[in-house]
Amino acid sequence: MTSASPQHASAFIGGALTSEKGARLELVNPANETSIGQVECNTPETVKWAVSNALEVFQNRIWSAAPLSKRAGVLRAIAQTIRDNAEELAALDTLCAGLPYHRSTLRHAAGAAGWFDYFADFLATQRDDAYLGTPDRTTLVTRVPRGVVALYAPWNVPLGIAAIKLAAALAAGNTCVIKPSEQTPLSMLRLAALMVEAGLPAGCVNVVNGRGPGAGAALAKQAPIAAISFTGGAAAGASIAEAAAGRFIPVTMELGGKSPTLIFADSDYEAALDGALLSAFSNSGQACLAGSRILVEASIADRFIADFTARTKAIRIAEPMDPACEMGPMSSENHRALVARMFEEAVKDGAEPLTACKAPEAHPNGFYLTPGILHVTDPKAMIFQTEVFGPLATLMTFRDDGEALSLAQDSSYGLAAYVWTRDIQRALQFSKALDAGTILVNTAFQRELNAPFGGFNASGIGREGGGSSYAFYTQEKTILLSDASASSAPLGKLK
Ligand code: NAD
Repeated sequence: MTSASPQHASAFIGGALTSEKGARLELVNPANETSIGQVECNTPETVKWAVSNALEVFQNRIWSAAPLSKRAGVLRAIAQTIRDNAEELAALDTLCAGLPYHRSTLRHAAGAAGWFDYFADFLATQRDDAYLGTPDRTTLVTRVPRGVVALYAPWNVPLGIAAIKLAAALAAGNTCVIKPSEQTPLSMLRLAALMVEAGLPAGCVNVVNGRGPGAGAALAKQAPIAAISFTGGAAAGASIAEAAAGRFIPVTMELGGKSPTLIFADSDYEAALDGALLSAFSNSGQACLAGSRILVEASIADRFIADFTARTKAIRIAEPMDPACEMGPMSSENHRALVARMFEEAVKDGAEPLTACKAPEAHPNGFYLTPGILHVTDPKAMIFQTEVFGPLATLMTFRDDGEALSLAQDSSYGLAAYVWTRDIQRALQFSKALDAGTILVNTAFQRELNAPFGGFNASGIGREGGGSSYAFYTQEKTILLSDASASSAPLGKLK
């Protein structure tokens, strides 16, 4: 694990760490409940300073007007420094959030580097559009950066989600103020310093820390903020969107999900079983994309439920740096209590527990929790409808395609849907019919960097990834170039 010396997370403004007196939060290692250090709760004044600094750097045009080839070169250098420091960055996220190092945070670090490389390549594809409306006029449509953008990242994929936003926003020429989760500030602070070392002009990326309703809310209210990209829960998203609406600035909201996993009798059984387990329990179930509503065709349900339950019981719970760890602790004591409580309430409501969801005896220290499975028959049950964001899967059976579709669609969310079938026609029909931003056919978690990612309905608005991100972080400007010096109907020339 990373250094035993206490960590201190302050703000990072203008290329340097700052320090302020005032409230602090304890950072606790979820794997053993020991103190890691503290994170400062930045005041509104500090947040304002970070934003003014970002605005000044935007306006001095060092970055916003830099040749695209220069920006691309810096993004590539950042990708390389993330790769060079991946072990340290990943260990910081594991330290703060208990996420498995080998199965999660090392992969998140590789993914983060991939986003910077992707947007470096993307810049080479950019060109203005030209239209010849009339013989004496050319119309150019160009894209310009928005200015200072505010970015919010959650604790479940701290580095990876920050990187998607930073890489795209910087590629487009913006300057940024990012608010990591108060649980996972360390990897972002380290990344910010590495980015400056890699050649990003100081002040292009600033980091503010503290509680969401404190520093986070203050950031959304800063007048110079020109766009906001948020990933997190619905409550925080709604209050940020409200602040943005008053100033007519665009937002993307990447929110939660309760995604269905449809297992048809004609699927590749072993692949579907592996996929359902991965979708439900990867990242210790703390994933927006989690396929936590598993729907199984009745003719294979007994066998599938027995196998799914046996495999779930065999998931190796271990200290998150342990190479054998398949599931680490929950990110915090409160989060473990919440997941365990939701499981108990669901059982009281009539769900049948197929495994326990409780603190394992083998791990008396740390916020560990055994993965829970509930067999549900009522689609209106709270546990079938509400995001848990932990290792808790619900299983339900369906008799035919019609019932499968109506159960899958019975949700206020629409982030993803997983379909396991060998029937290409059924796969296509379900892909078209399901209301979700991403449909994964015969595969568990996958992300295509070129493709838009985002949610329908309560899972959010806007899309991230590829051209969608670039479009969000820029705005179009239309330039009409005429070779005629006067309009056809001049004013004020009548004699
Ligand atoms: P959260 O909403 O508590 O926090 C997200 C970020 O917003 C943090 O930086 C937090 O400090 C800040 N914040 C919280 N309240 C705020 C407020 N009132 N004003 C301003 N900022 C505020 O979410 P979390 O617990 O960190 O993450 C879990 C949630 O994130 C889950 O619902 C999960 O589904 C969602 N998520 C979505 C995606 C996606 O891509 N759709 C990816 C990962 C996580």
